[in-house]
Amino acid sequence: MKVLANDGISESGRQMLESEGFEVIVTKVAQNQLIDFLNNNNIEVILVRSSTKIGKDILDACPKLKIIGRGGVGLDNIEVGYAQSKNIEVINTPEASSGSVAELVFAHLFTGARHLHDSNRNMPLEGDSRFLDLKRSYAAGVELRGKTLGIIGFGRIGKAVSKIALGLGMKVIASDSEVGEAKIELTFHNHQSIKIPIKTEPIDQLIQHSDFITLHVPAQISPILGAKEFGEMKQGVGIVNTARGGIIDEEALVEALEDGHVSFAALDTFADEPTPSIKILMNEKISLSPHIGAATLEAQKRIGEELATQIISIYQK
Ligand code: NAD
Repeated sequence: MKVLANDGISESGRQMLESEGFEVIVTKVAQNQLIDFLNNNNIEVILVRSSTKIGKDILDACPKLKIIGRGGVGLDNIEVGYAQSKNIEVINTPEASSGSVAELVFAHLFTGARHLHDSNRNMPLEGDSRFLDLKRSYAAGVELRGKTLGIIGFGRIGKAVSKIALGLGMKVIASDSEVGEAKIELTFHNHQSIKIPIKTEPIDQLIQHSDFITLHVPAQISPILGAKEFGEMKQGVGIVNTARGGIIDEEALVEALEDGHVSFAALDTFADEPTPSIKILMNEKISLSPHIGAATLEAQKRIGEELATQIISIYQK
């Protein structure tokens, strides 16, 4: 029973599999060599994150595959239906990384609100002709407390984001194609908990009412936010996208940043991954991270262990 963890696996997940007799290979095999590697090494389980693609070519050419494990949530890099039609099980770990993605949203929100993404690149030294101007612009930060956070997509991550926002004293509005009324349960260290109702609104209203907007929907056929939506947002709004690149029209975003209507954006996912366009990379109003929402040590440990547990139980059936 051989497992190829092509995008890596946590040490604890690897140990769980090995203690049940699996051989775990952690070599990174290039996409165009994957078919040969899987067949030549009799691999039955392949584990991927977002970078390895499991398309019909691999599924047709590798009859020994039994399980495809996605460490994380989005399955858009896997031909799920086609795999299942060939009796290959597709598993993922939807809960394991929600808290980590939510914390990254706030890393970006605090960064944007206090211009840290820009000052990290451009902090002027005394004697620099830009010193006073830049210092003045960095000094014009805003607080998150009391501001309205619009959450588009109120599933696992959207809800995790709302809990942090409420803790910071933000107002929260949510918009979700499936969720009508929403309540969030906040649990404290003394195990007491309270339920807080969350206001839900259609996206067109949320856009008009939010000081900051964060997106948590799956991949979409067309962007949710484009020129029209940016134009309807509050002046100076900040936008965070840790969901999927294609859900924001990046050209329109750059224009809205350039004309100042949007004050900053933070992107963890891009229309072109892993190499976003130069316009995005070089824009000083954008805080960047390379699709690392789920990439904390804690989430990776949970992801590895959850995958191992599921694989072991499938083999025990
Ligand atoms: P989820 O399925 O729990 O929630 C998604 C929500 O979006 C659902 O409630 C759904 O009803 C809603 N939705 C779908 N289409 C919508 C639309 N057009 N308008 C409004 N609402 C819509 O998913 P999740 O676990 O919260 O993950 C959300 C996103 O985060 C996914 O795209 C996932 O791929 C991404 N993600 C990114 C990272 C990262 O590293 N950056 C890590 C994990 C997940």
